Amino acid sequence: MLESVRQSANVVEIQLDGEALYTRFVIGADGVHSRVRTLTEPPNGWFWRGFALEARIPCNTVERYELTFDLSPIRKGYGWVFPKGDHLNVGLYSYAKDEKIDRERLGRYIKSRNFQSVPMQVVGQYTGFGASRHIVGNTRVFLVGDAGGFVNPFTGEGISQAIRSGQAAAAAIDMDLKGLGPANLWFRDNSKRLRRDLAVASMVGHWFYGNLKWGYLCFSTPGVSGSIAKFE
Ligand SMILES: Cc1cc2nc3c(=O)[nH]c(=O)nc-3n(C[C@H](O)[C@H](O)[C@H](O)COP(=O)(O)OP(=O)(O)OC[C@H]3O[C@@H](n4cnc5c(N)ncnc54)[C@H](O)[C@@H]3O)c2cc1C
Repeated sequence: MLESVRQSANVVEIQLDGEALYTRFVIGADGVHSRVRTLTEPPNGWFWRGFALEARIPCNTVERYELTFDLSPIRKGYGWVFPKGDHLNVGLYSYAKDEKIDRERLGRYIKSRNFQSVPMQVVGQYTGFGASRHIVGNTRVFLVGDAGGFVNPFTGEGISQAIRSGQAAAAAIDMDLKGLGPANLWFRDNSKRLRRDLAVASMVGHWFYGNLKWGYLCFSTPGVSGSIAKFE
């Protein structure tokens, strides 16, 4: 278990399973429950969470189904149906604190869509938000992906931002090792656009889910949706 992460001028000391390890930098890519974040960030409220739960429904007629984002089953989020080869991936996502997403609710949703087979491989996890409000304060420890709150609250997507924030941290460390300036300033710079995009996504998401009728109209209007989605 990761017990502590201490930064000093030139090194980071990590206590892991009772052993001391020394390294010049740490990239915390340990997901939404990030131990690295817990150990290195003051609890000042920039990080927040949503939740998503998905199931695999075996299906040999996937071509009959359309890729669907369904705004009816949940607030501040959506239900989805993704046809995939030999199955449908069906799920629920929301960032509303008072929306409870569990197996039972997903089961009810699946039933309401009249899918015939029994859902399998139900998996759920929190999603980490807040990168747009996070000011990079650490000098040698950088948080990326869900650990750093890089999920888009509007869409619940985080894979691309996990990769991009990871690349931003790696490039920052590379610059530091080449003697081109402190990694933390590079990381701040390299991740600035991504954080700004997430701030926009957050605003758009809050507006969209608070005004579904207008939001739907905007996003289903060719041209308008394209310019709104450009930040991605
Ligand atoms: C149901 C669901 C559906 C989703 N669908 C999509 C989608 O369609 N598209 C999309 O873009 N995003 C989607 N997301 C979000 C996306 O999955 C995440 O944003 C993304 O996986 C984050 O990547 P990550 O590497 O930061 O974290 P993770 O994928 O969570 O990886 C963190 C890794 O760190 C490891 N770890 C944690 N603690 C430690 C430790 N102490 N020591 C060693 N290892 C540790 C974990 O085992 C894990 O392997 C979905 C999320 C959920 C919950």
